[in-house]
Amino acid sequence: MNIQEIEAKRHRHVGPNLSVSYRKPLHIVRGEGQFLYDPEGNAYLDMVNNVCHVGHCHPRVVQAGQEQMAVLNTNTRYLHEHLVNFAERLAGTLPDPLEVCYFVSSGSEATELALRLSRTHTKRTDMIVSDHAYHGSTGNCVDMSPYKFDGKGGQGAPPWVHKAMAPDVYRGPYKADDPEAGKKYAAHVGELIADARANGREIAGFIIESMISCGGQLIPPDGYLEEVYRIVREDGGVVIADEVQVGFGRAGTHFWAFETQGVVPDIVTLGKPIGNGHPLAAVITTPEIAASFDNGMEYFATFGGNPVSCAIGLAVLDVIEDEGLQENARVVGEKLLKDTAALMEKHALIGDVRGWGLFVGIELVRDRATLEPASEEAYTVIEKMRDRQILLSTEGPHYNIIKIKPPIVFSEKDADHFVTHLDEVLTEMADSSHGRR
Ligand code: PMP
Repeated sequence: MNIQEIEAKRHRHVGPNLSVSYRKPLHIVRGEGQFLYDPEGNAYLDMVNNVCHVGHCHPRVVQAGQEQMAVLNTNTRYLHEHLVNFAERLAGTLPDPLEVCYFVSSGSEATELALRLSRTHTKRTDMIVSDHAYHGSTGNCVDMSPYKFDGKGGQGAPPWVHKAMAPDVYRGPYKADDPEAGKKYAAHVGELIADARANGREIAGFIIESMISCGGQLIPPDGYLEEVYRIVREDGGVVIADEVQVGFGRAGTHFWAFETQGVVPDIVTLGKPIGNGHPLAAVITTPEIAASFDNGMEYFATFGGNPVSCAIGLAVLDVIEDEGLQENARVVGEKLLKDTAALMEKHALIGDVRGWGLFVGIELVRDRATLEPASEEAYTVIEKMRDRQILLSTEGPHYNIIKIKPPIVFSEKDADHFVTHLDEVLTEMADSSHGRR
């Protein structure tokens, strides 16, 4: 089928609010490593897909799934080695006392389960979320996602959700050069808890990504998670680390992004990269919280923990380890950050470059003093890079942040390729705006 035929059929039979990227949509038929291919065989460098973490269609992951599919796929009501081995392997990557796993099929389902665990354990209902956060597409997840409930079509926060200021050291009130910024952002959560109490409400838990993706590719300042976790726990709540986007070695220096802040959450949600594209997700918690959840009501998810999913999950862990991909994320991420930041001297449009490992944000502004968001310009950059066969996307409350989170097989050569083209695109844009004047 050609693009027009697919678009016409999609228009008729697929929900209209499923969006398609780019003014000129791409028809993608194959993936390999960090590349996607159209029917003509043109390669596109994928710098946004953090799901196909160890590379699109990694042969070892594909083989693990195919082999297990041909033998058995059933549910957790029978004993099977893959389930227990996968749970043990995952728990082995996490600090104590995080050792009890629940397997589900999507990040949203993981968020929902984390909410249930928090509520059952604390016997409270309310949650604190970070402003602009996204935690999933189901009803409760949208209710916990300011990115959705404050956006188009949203209806604001429900009474049980309390929104904390995002720890944004570029745009927020406490800047990167303030050594106390972490503590200051955390203090707002303390105020929220006090306000909630004054209104007769109690906080069951606080959920936040350990590095913030939808909120604008933010790296929380030092000490933020430590202080905010302390404040929430002191009040009797639990802390949930959403590692759906940022886990599994992307941070480079650490396997889990929360480890970069030296903290240990009570509940961790995992998704996207865990199955390299296969619908697999997980929630991991402490024996104590798992015991509270075991209150007599059976927990069962039809697809969660099936042997095929677990075989795939095990293969992903093997590949990350055997191919040294966490270290690759560290080395390539450092270079990408440094070379992109070097473009700031030449291009005033770049207001900030931030990141950790292969998780990078480039914030575009019209004025470095007022921080006026360069949202249209960011959109133009994305489109121009697409024409150069480099796939990117925008992020953040103003959609002026270019987000970078490629499969972690992304190489130094890819980083050079990206920086060269970004430099050219920004030069082209500056030239044409001068021309107009
Ligand atoms: N948490 C975060 C941080 C996410 O980015 C997403 C998906 N974008 C989810 C949860 C929900 O995951 P899923 O789409 O697999 O339900």
